Amino acid sequence: QETLLKVSNLKTYYPVKGGFFKRTVGHVKAVDGVSFELKKGETLGLVGESGCGKSTAGRTILRLLNPTDGEINFDGEDITKLRGNRLREKRKDFQMVFQDPYASLNPMQMVGDIISEPIKNYYPRKKKKEIKAEVMELLKRVGLPDDAYTKYAHEFSGGQRQRIGIARALALKPKLIIADEPVSALDVSVQSQVLNLLNELQDDFDLTYLFIAHDLSVVKHMSDRIGIMYLGHIVEIADKNTIYKEPLHPYTQALISAVPEPDPRRKKERIVLEGDVPSPENPPSGCPFHTRCPMAVDKCSTIKPELKEVRSGHHVACILVD
Ligand code: SF4
Ligand code: MG
Repeated sequence: QETLLKVSNLKTYYPVKGGFFKRTVGHVKAVDGVSFELKKGETLGLVGESGCGKSTAGRTILRLLNPTDGEINFDGEDITKLRGNRLREKRKDFQMVFQDPYASLNPMQMVGDIISEPIKNYYPRKKKKEIKAEVMELLKRVGLPDDAYTKYAHEFSGGQRQRIGIARALALKPKLIIADEPVSALDVSVQSQVLNLLNELQDDFDLTYLFIAHDLSVVKHMSDRIGIMYLGHIVEIADKNTIYKEPLHPYTQALISAVPEPDPRRKKERIVLEGDVPSPENPPSGCPFHTRCPMAVDKCSTIKPELKEVRSGHHVACILVD
């Protein structure tokens, strides 16, 4: 299968300003050397606690933020430093679905205008009638009624607003969609409806997904592969079943142990992690997880483990796994 996205050693650092002269006194290493590939038509779930850098990674890949270092190759082109018109042109091919449909939709705009806006921007000479027909079709595909066209976003429920956001993301027929916690602001009862919709649309529109979530249960049904992020690093990446059944990194094992087990006969031990995620401004030396790792040994605080392929397609960053 063809590769759509290849991210190599991606770093995104934010400067920290301080003192009277507001000089740069340090850096928040939000994304600190992330590498992975995404095949066409695939869904990669990117999972980690809040503050681990997954949203920053998503935004950097879409060039909403500038990378500090590394390379982003999209659809055969190096887009790491793309600017101006060439970046704008490329933007048609990748879109973001945001966590909070309330905040990402303009309440003063009619839904028809919200969805047609990107089409008008990119195809200013397209006929109004044609644009309207495309928008009506998109409304149908995301499960909204025809009359949504002339309504305002605030007239809809949370789940329906996320459908509006999805229709807008689809308007330019992108190849890649980065969905940043697309259901975590929604009621549990509508979460699975929106996830099912994203799944259906993937086949219909030939989409590739990077699906960002803070908990493993949401990505379970969506993903082909799962990457686990901790403090700006991918610590383990493998196909979904491997992550759920044979996690090798102690952090992944802790996350898996927190996923509710529906079958009461299959009891499992919950691994509780002590303390919080350390500040990405002063990340621990050695393994970034050593301050909380239940398996840590002395050398974990001095040796930084590389992400290594331990079995075909299964990569882990832990010095105990080899
Ligand atoms: Fe834990 Fe050490 Fe492995 Fe890091 S390298 S995950 S601290 S055992
Ligand atoms: Mg799918």
